[in-house]
Amino acid sequence: MKKQYFSIFLLFFALMNCETSDAQSNKNSKTENNKDSLMFAKIYEQALVRGKCYENLDYLANKIGARLSGSPQNAAAVEWAKQIMDTLGFDRVELQPVMVPHWVRGKKEVAKIISSKSGATEVPILALGGSAATPFGGLVANVVEVKSLEELKNLGKEKVQGKIVFFNKAMNPMFLDTFDAYSDVVGLRAGGASEAAKLGAVGVVIRSLASNLDNFPHTGGVRYEVNVPQIPAVAISTNGAELLSKLISQQTDLQFFMEISCKFIGEKLSYNVIGEIKGSEKPNEYILVGGHLDSWDVGQGAHDDGAGVVQSMEVARIFKALNYKPKKTLRVVLFANEENGLKGGKEYARVAAEKKENHIVALESDAGGFLPIGFSVGAKGEAFKKYKAWEELFQKFNVFKITEGGGGADISPLKPLGTVDAVILPDSQRYFNYHHTVEDTFDKVDKRELELGAAAMASFMYMLSEMK
Ligand SMILES: [Zn+2]
Repeated sequence: MKKQYFSIFLLFFALMNCETSDAQSNKNSKTENNKDSLMFAKIYEQALVRGKCYENLDYLANKIGARLSGSPQNAAAVEWAKQIMDTLGFDRVELQPVMVPHWVRGKKEVAKIISSKSGATEVPILALGGSAATPFGGLVANVVEVKSLEELKNLGKEKVQGKIVFFNKAMNPMFLDTFDAYSDVVGLRAGGASEAAKLGAVGVVIRSLASNLDNFPHTGGVRYEVNVPQIPAVAISTNGAELLSKLISQQTDLQFFMEISCKFIGEKLSYNVIGEIKGSEKPNEYILVGGHLDSWDVGQGAHDDGAGVVQSMEVARIFKALNYKPKKTLRVVLFANEENGLKGGKEYARVAAEKKENHIVALESDAGGFLPIGFSVGAKGEAFKKYKAWEELFQKFNVFKITEGGGGADISPLKPLGTVDAVILPDSQRYFNYHHTVEDTFDKVDKRELELGAAAMASFMYMLSEMK
């Protein structure tokens, strides 16, 4: 107990020091700044000393686990989230119905590189989410390797017809933010299958979108164009991709075998889980914090996006624990179906538009539960300046930057309604080691980093609540 007070004292002491160094700044803004600093300190104390988000993530990841839209685990996650929200003292908790696609992976995928020189070598693959199945008993064909859609088009029909196209583009390590490296290659995963099918390919193998070399393939959505044959699409692990490329360079008529049995089995009812605290001064102005409750069907969806889910709920818990009543109406929203449809985000925005709810700003956490380094806000020029002005305050808590940009898939449908989109920026260096793999598990999330993220988000939501 003594130790706890001591550390809080240290935190306050650090803040007081910061204040006295600002002697020249005008008195009003200083008082304001001081008030906000003290509130931040209280928020951080709640998150770091009395935090509940790690415990909640433990349950969601370890007891419920992977929760793809339509699965029984997804339904369990909705029920669990509602029960937690019921204990957080919201004015209102709502399950907003959403119809979601239900796709199942089927039996474990099998793939082999077949060489006339070295025989068959099994390699790890995962079907891409939404992929069509191979014929029963599998599919075997020669492989053609490309690094881009342009290279594929240049090969033309005669070189692609009847073959499996292997897209072998690694994530570029020169991007400091790994999300930029991901954006650079994700088009191949989403659109590569249809482009290959237009040239008569019978299947595609995508090098996993990963920052590292290992044996774990990364799934993710494939998007088929209408009126183009839907050919099976799989991701191969990065080590598997290296091996396949090496063997292709040694033998031009190398063959690849794959067998996947995934399929769509219709639509299912799911829900956005919504908690609301009415604003004390501007109840008709909404500020939203959220993440997505669904995940892919491998691993535990711990970073993606279990972390965002428990951090968003933690914002409300912290406000209640501090007896802080937001001035604008706070919504905590756990969206359905981000991974393979975005149906939750779209339905939320549709209802918000229908009810003419004025969502001022929405903050999403969907980039992993790593150490927070900043926020990105989708406002420009003059409008951005008021957010940028918070940077100094956040820097006292080691959250270094507030940048222009925004983002967040689930909140993107709110943008046409005039909502400013914002995202928390965790350190991105390890995210794409685990993203959409069996490795995205609870043990990969650091308690301290997760809690620091929740504290930064609660501080950001407090600033939004107070913002004139
Ligand atoms: Zn996500």
